[in-house]
Amino acid sequence: MSETLHRTTLEPTPRDEPHGAPPPAAGPHRVVIVGGGFGGLTTARGLGGAEGIAVTLIDRRNHHLFQPLLYQVATAVIAPGEIAEPIRAILRWDRNVSVLMGEVEGVDTEERAVRLRDGTRIPYDTLVLATGATHSYFGHPEWERYAPGLKTLDDARRIRARVLLAFEAAEREDDPAARERLMTFAVIGGGPTGVEMAGAIAGLAHHALSQDFRRIDPKQARILLIEAAPRVLGTFTEDLSAYARRSLERLGVTVLTEHAVEDVSEEGVTVAGKLIPAATIVWGAGVRASPAGEWLGVETTRQGHVPVGPDLAVIGRPGVYALGDLAMAKAEDGKPLPGLAQVADQQGRYLGRALRDRILHGTVPKPFRFRSRGNLAIIGHNSGVVQWDRVKLKGFLAWLVWGVAHVYLLVGFHNRLVVTLRWLWAYLSFQRGARLISERDEAVMALIRGTPPGRIPPP
Ligand SMILES: Cc1cc2nc3c(=O)[nH]c(=O)nc-3n(C[C@H](O)[C@H](O)[C@H](O)COP(=O)(O)OP(=O)(O)OC[C@H]3O[C@@H](n4cnc5c(N)ncnc54)[C@H](O)[C@@H]3O)c2cc1C
Repeated sequence: MSETLHRTTLEPTPRDEPHGAPPPAAGPHRVVIVGGGFGGLTTARGLGGAEGIAVTLIDRRNHHLFQPLLYQVATAVIAPGEIAEPIRAILRWDRNVSVLMGEVEGVDTEERAVRLRDGTRIPYDTLVLATGATHSYFGHPEWERYAPGLKTLDDARRIRARVLLAFEAAEREDDPAARERLMTFAVIGGGPTGVEMAGAIAGLAHHALSQDFRRIDPKQARILLIEAAPRVLGTFTEDLSAYARRSLERLGVTVLTEHAVEDVSEEGVTVAGKLIPAATIVWGAGVRASPAGEWLGVETTRQGHVPVGPDLAVIGRPGVYALGDLAMAKAEDGKPLPGLAQVADQQGRYLGRALRDRILHGTVPKPFRFRSRGNLAIIGHNSGVVQWDRVKLKGFLAWLVWGVAHVYLLVGFHNRLVVTLRWLWAYLSFQRGARLISERDEAVMALIRGTPPGRIPPP
């Protein structure tokens, strides 16, 4: 351990408490959780109030984010603050849980300490890694600047600005070809995120904005959903997937299946050797796990997932657990569990209980069992699909189930109430209540300077 690191270690003294430092090794058992998403937060809550356990939750952001509704922020249905909640506020009543805002960049498994970017070391007895996943551009990181993915609030704000500004720029554009490019929106990836994004952009263009411009007709906007596989929503049954395609087409989305993206550039997207000019491109195609597997020095899957045992313990790293989108856990049939909020949430609940029992009573926990609450996706106004065992729903009923499930899972009564009211308003009026573009956005500055979005230099 280097001198510098030694000096920056948060030494376990009572005076450290205001900084959220772990208590002395001789005192309570120190559990460090990295990540305040679904997995990390539910683990922390499960350990809340446990006497004899001191929990430190570290996240690089100060808020827990409800990612399933990000696309609604990106398409101006709801405002960013309505799907995020400060982690500190959520855990304020769990007196044995401290929250630290900081970016973890390594783990010293020998010394049992987590390393933060600023050199601080946080010692642990038990470590829980729940750092989630990020976008993967299939070996083309250069595509990211033209086709942002949707993972954080900043991503959603940026995409919202691009979508809204494309219409603003088109209104000012005289050249028909340039205008057509500005009014073409390409969504790459036909999974739930891509389907939801494409349907929501169609709703925005064909309804919410339809009367607001004078030189352009937003209803003429071209929305493309590009998928390499033979069908969209590939994890759903064929009939639900076909229904989703028909619904998208009814909304005015052009669905291109069996079209692998060959290039993404400032000009647009190239598929089947042909460039489709598009000013706004959204990436919803691939994800890879956060680099926590590298911190641990363990072998991971190709997408960086950390293999875990039935109790979510990282194989070959005693005292370390991984869950959620970071982990590769298997269902009872041996298939890997999907990267879903409900998986991370159930794993977090399990791990909180299991660690409490193991640390306080020495009990060996039963293996984790995932109970699916169904596969859900929304396509647009009044239209969704739900698959739960043999139960299949589509149309309005599925849309309703999706809405109720998502409102229920939102953290905080205020968020639930506001989001429900926003949806009710959007449902009845077809309007979008969160259409403001921030002047700080780089795309606004570029437009003012005369550069249309899509030709905007990345931040
Ligand atoms: C657009 C979108 C739509 C989705 N829709 C659905 C849906 O409808 N239904 C569903 O079930 N699932 C959905 N998901 C998936 C779901 O959101 C994830 O499966 C879930 O968030 C995984 O939880 P997690 O705790 O593993 O990771 P996350 O929720 O991603 O949390 C990871 C946390 O770790 C923190 N972190 C990461 N690295 C570091 C670091 N180095 N240092 C400190 N902190 C760090 C992050 O800031 C973050 O807070 C969607 C995901 C996206 C992106």
